[in-house]
Amino acid sequence: MQEMTHYIGGDHVKGGSGRFADVFNPATGEVQGQAPLASRAEIDHAVEVAQAAQPKWAATNPQRRARVMMEYVRLLNRDMDKLAEALSREHGKTIPDAKGDVQRGLEVVEFCIGAPHLLKGEYTDGAGPGIDMYSMRQPLGVSAGITPFNFPAMIPMWMFAPAIACGNAFILKPSERAPSVPLMLAELMEEAGLPAGILQVVNGDKEAVDAILEHEGIASVGFVGSTPIAEYIYGKGCAHGKRVQCFGGAKNHMIIMPDADMEKAADALVGAGYGAAGERCMAISVAVPVGEETADRLIAALKPRVESLKVGPYTSGDDVDFGPVVTAAAKENILNLVQSGVDAGAELVVDGRDFNLQGYENGFFVGAHLFDRVTPDMDIYRKEIFGPVLSTVRAGSYEEALKLAMDHEMGNGTAIFTRDGDAARDFANRVNVGMVGINVPIPVPLAYHSFGGWKKSAFGDLNQHGTDSFKFYTKTKTVTARWPSGIKDGGEFNFKPMD
Ligand code: NAD
Repeated sequence: MQEMTHYIGGDHVKGGSGRFADVFNPATGEVQGQAPLASRAEIDHAVEVAQAAQPKWAATNPQRRARVMMEYVRLLNRDMDKLAEALSREHGKTIPDAKGDVQRGLEVVEFCIGAPHLLKGEYTDGAGPGIDMYSMRQPLGVSAGITPFNFPAMIPMWMFAPAIACGNAFILKPSERAPSVPLMLAELMEEAGLPAGILQVVNGDKEAVDAILEHEGIASVGFVGSTPIAEYIYGKGCAHGKRVQCFGGAKNHMIIMPDADMEKAADALVGAGYGAAGERCMAISVAVPVGEETADRLIAALKPRVESLKVGPYTSGDDVDFGPVVTAAAKENILNLVQSGVDAGAELVVDGRDFNLQGYENGFFVGAHLFDRVTPDMDIYRKEIFGPVLSTVRAGSYEEALKLAMDHEMGNGTAIFTRDGDAARDFANRVNVGMVGINVPIPVPLAYHSFGGWKKSAFGDLNQHGTDSFKFYTKTKTVTARWPSGIKDGGEFNFKPMD
């Protein structure tokens, strides 16, 4: 079994707290490693190292910083297979999904190559007599990020790439359930030319997170994970005077209008609902067909598709649609929620409860489930399941479907499938959700736009990546400068150096 490390000051450092978390191979159920859980003293040490390294990095001109990002992109592509394999081994997702995870992070690194342009300030020539005014964007100092298990490559890169491109040092506290890839990402950054101490990885749990939130030497904290922890971190981080952005859970609705192309809508729902075993914050977990006839057609199109989904380990190659969920506890939680749906009277159209994979009996596999006739009072509707379970709520009208999405406490993503431009436009304008798809089931914005939900899916003002990230990781300083004119009335130069 592998004993994992932290990555501090450019070195792999063994955990010193004596506390560890088991890291599983979700396909076999075996413990394959142990992640050290950092103590407060280990966080203190990482912050000291970061503080010592950061001023020189901040003083490195933005073009040189961007060149490190350029080289990093090359190295990520070079090591794509290795990263994807390590990611699938700990997370369980298929290799194509794991490559997508790395790729979407890599695209944010590509965006950060634009740092010299993105960091340019504003300038007003002649704001008054002899007065010019300009603003500059300066790094915050040391930033920290706390990330979830479900995108061990993409989400850390969403945070550390812009933070570092802006001249900050960054301390990453990844999920203790998938720590290998974050460590590899930090190593690769140094191979790309990043000085030691600018990107560090400290593994840990609540103790490490609390130490980060309370540390005076950390200026900002980014978080992605479940909503209760997002709320906790936002409150505590703000109370300690930090700049904080937290992104939480989701319950994403997809509305299917009567005029939608039903075959395309069903294909989209299967990919968006069951891909990565539903362990995506942008997964569609609620289908809302408008009208009984639409609902009947949708269920008829979905049922055979869901029944034929192939579940298996990532080692089976392209033949698998999705893999296991991350832990035995996650599996139990999903199956309990499915049972609650059955008990509450929802119709289980596809029942994956007895799913078993020969040779992988101890793996955390969950079969695909499809519910019909779910109602908003049920736990399977209200709670985030984060598993391969799609709930169908039948709506009588477009307004009723819109109201469902609007009344849910989560507001990460949503989609509408229709051929009616009016309906699509109205939906995009009125829905109180941060990311909207029109005939696109998973509307994840590309790196140069920004990513973020509304309502209980996000806390804080600025989104991730895009230009928002450069705002989040910098402070604006505005300078007003008066240089009295040295030109006399007659035009003769009258410069007197100060002594
Ligand atoms: P999680 O909230 O359990 O853990 C996220 C991070 O918080 C981890 O690093 C973990 O170590 C830490 N943490 C856990 N408990 C803590 C505590 N009590 N105090 C302090 N820190 C704690 O989330 P997860 O299970 O790793 O990830 C899945 C969740 O993340 C889902 O809810 C999903 O919707 C959400 N998510 C959201 C987005 C988004 O952008 N909105 C993206 C991906 C995942």
